[in-house]
Amino acid sequence: MPHPKKKTSKAAKNQRRSHHALKSINLIKCPKCEKAIKPHTVCDGCGFYKGKEYIDMTKKLPRKQRAKIEKKKVKEESKELKKINKESEKIRKIDHKSDRIEGIKSVVRGDK
Ligand SMILES: [Zn+2]
Repeated sequence: MPHPKKKTSKAAKNQRRSHHALKSINLIKCPKCEKAIKPHTVCDGCGFYKGKEYIDMTKKLPRKQRAKIEKKKVKEESKELKKINKESEKIRKIDHKSDRIEGIKSVVRGDK
């Protein structure tokens, strides 16, 4: 077994270990969920980086919770679809009315 030739003095030992202290890491707040994260990394709380989703966090949840969230999403989507359908129906009705009014006007004017 190799042995050191001389005993390392306390001063030499302490000087060597003066660089061993841990440095604190720089953390920033996630702009979306305000969790403390390292800069230039995807947030592990919401999966977003620079306003874009990179990780689908629902996939990391247990199955039951994921199913609940997906059910909610489907419900919201169907609600939006219903809203859009209602609005398009309204627009169609208005178009039909304006067509009828135009027809009456043309009759009054005597157009063909
Ligand atoms: Zn986040």
